[in-house]
Amino acid sequence: MAVAIHPSVDGGVKPGRADMAGGTLHCHCASDKVEVTLASNTAHNHVCGCSLCWKPEGAPFSVVAVVPRDKLSVTANEGKLKIVDESKTIQRYACADCGVHMYGRIESKEHPFYGLDFVHTELSDDSGWSAPGFAAFVSSIIEQGTPPSKMDGIRARLTELTLEPYDCLSPPLMDAIATHVAKSKGTYREA
Ligand SMILES: [Zn+2]
Ligand SMILES: [Zn+2]
Repeated sequence: MAVAIHPSVDGGVKPGRADMAGGTLHCHCASDKVEVTLASNTAHNHVCGCSLCWKPEGAPFSVVAVVPRDKLSVTANEGKLKIVDESKTIQRYACADCGVHMYGRIESKEHPFYGLDFVHTELSDDSGWSAPGFAAFVSSIIEQGTPPSKMDGIRARLTELTLEPYDCLSPPLMDAIATHVAKSKGTYREA
């Protein structure tokens, strides 16, 4: 049996569609679902092993992508949303009844990812969302109870799924963060 990563990728990563223009996400409540509407496709979708992202019961990883914050709106039952932990950089808005995180938002304008909201497109019945392309913060799953002895098998399975495993973010995103820091410190050089 293959090593479990996340239900949406365990059967193979489904490719996204270039003409995907958005759709809706719903929480897990049986009725009065919180609905979030995205007016564009997502980007930078990835598997994440950090302890803060919402993940389905039993899955060691989350699957999380970003969307411009001006493309995200809460279109039903917004009153059920509450911020999971206001002290965190990413304010995660979860349904108070079912616990599902509907979106994460960064309010600090100095943050490299300011302007992007974090979303889980497995909450959508629409298809064609950007496909996960790598795995971030892989070693962090040990902190949440995965035995270190399982990591070789997990990394091998991620590689097999073409989800290159990293223990921080992917090199392009780490470069984007460092570029933002260099620009704010005045050490940035074009060439
Ligand atoms: Zn709910
Ligand atoms: Zn995460």
